[in-house]
Amino acid sequence: MTRLQTLGNRVGTQASKIPVAQPGSWRNDKATSGQRGYTYAWQKASKAFILANPLCVMCDALGRVTATALVDHIQPHRGDMTLFWDRANWQPLCTYCHSSVKQREEAGRL
Ligand SMILES: [Zn+2]
Repeated sequence: MTRLQTLGNRVGTQASKIPVAQPGSWRNDKATSGQRGYTYAWQKASKAFILANPLCVMCDALGRVTATALVDHIQPHRGDMTLFWDRANWQPLCTYCHSSVKQREEAGRL
């Protein structure tokens, strides 16, 4: 009886260790937007960039005056943090121009 109880405790301890040892759990967290670089720091930096560059550059080139909605990466960073934070790679765009840029990028990839 006492032997079975001891064994029972050991099995219980090992079973409780299994979820901790699973390597998949931390990988799930990596898929968050924060892990891709879109952190609070990015939100602050992009907001400041938009304030400094209030007009969409693509609209401006066409003689249109449109307010900047977001910061676009001219060269897609694809998770490259150097490219992500390189302000020379940033451009202020309105949502319309941003979606047209993304469409062109995707067309170029095909
Ligand atoms: Zn625009």
